[in-house]
Amino acid sequence: MSRTEAPPLPEPLRVPVADSHTHLDMQDATVEEALARAAAVNVTAVVQVGCDVAGSRWAAETAAAHPAVHASVALHPNEAPRIVHGYAEGTAGTARQGAREPGGRAALDEALAEIDALAALDHVRGVGETGLDFFRTGPEGVAAQEESFRAHIEIAKRHGKALVIHDRDAHADVLRVLADAGAPERTVFHCYSGDADMARICARAGYFMSFAGNVTFKNAQPLRDALAVAPAELVLVETDAPFLTPAPYRGRPNAPYLIPVTLRAMAEVKGLDEDVLAAAVYDNTARAFDF
Ligand SMILES: [Zn+2]
Ligand SMILES: [Zn+2]
Repeated sequence: MSRTEAPPLPEPLRVPVADSHTHLDMQDATVEEALARAAAVNVTAVVQVGCDVAGSRWAAETAAAHPAVHASVALHPNEAPRIVHGYAEGTAGTARQGAREPGGRAALDEALAEIDALAALDHVRGVGETGLDFFRTGPEGVAAQEESFRAHIEIAKRHGKALVIHDRDAHADVLRVLADAGAPERTVFHCYSGDADMARICARAGYFMSFAGNVTFKNAQPLRDALAVAPAELVLVETDAPFLTPAPYRGRPNAPYLIPVTLRAMAEVKGLDEDVLAAAVYDNTARAFDF
C-alpha cells in the first residue's frame, strides 16, 4: 500500500457529525465525491474555509450550490503579509504559489473589502481562518497580520458570523487581540493547539475548541490533556483536510470522510460514549456556525 493512497472508509458513525473545517479545493476528489464519501460515514455537513479572496469566493459559491456545505471566508494569517509585502516565486504558503509584487496597505484594504462583501452572504456562516501564525510568518509580517486579524474580527461582529481562529505558535497574542478587540459572540479556535491551561481560559471565555487529526498523534499528549478539560459543549471536530490526517493514516491524504477516526479517539480521551460525543459535537457546530 502506498503512503499517498487514500485511507479506507472507516466504520460509519451512528450519529451524524459535521466537519467544522475543511479545504475541499485542495483535495483530490470533486466536491460531489467528497460529500458522498463523507455522507456514507454519517459526516453530513462541512464548513469549507477560504484562505484568500479567490478561495473565499469559491467557498461561498460551493456553499450556495450544496446544502451540506457552509462557507467561511477570510485572508489566511499568512496571506495578509504576502499581500502587503509581496513574495518570491515558490515561497511556501497556504494557498497559491507564484510571485507577487508588494501591494501595500491599499491592496490589503481592497482584499478585506472583498471578504467583507462575501461575509454578508447567507451561505457564509463564518469569517476566518484568521488570527496569527508566527510559525510561517516572520517578524516583518506581524504588523500586517495583526491588522488583518483585527479587521476580520470587526467584519465577523458586524455581520453576526462566527469567527474562525488560526493560531499557530501565537497563543498569548491571539488571546490578547481577542480580549482587546472584543471577541464575537461565537469564536472557534480551529485546529486547537493550546494546552490544558489555555483550554480553561477558552472555556471561561466561551470559545469553541475544534480538534483535528493531530489529537491522535503519539506526541500529542498535551493536546489530549486540553481536550480532557475542554467542556463537551464547546468541543468541535475537524479534518483541516488535506492536512493533519489522523493516526494510523498519518502522512496520507485527509478528507472529511475520516472524521469518525478522530471523533472516536476524542471520545476515548473524554471517556464519553461515541454517540454521546457525536451528538454534542454536531450540536456545537450548528450552534457555532448558526446552521
Ligand atoms: Zn489553519
Ligand atoms: Zn485550514
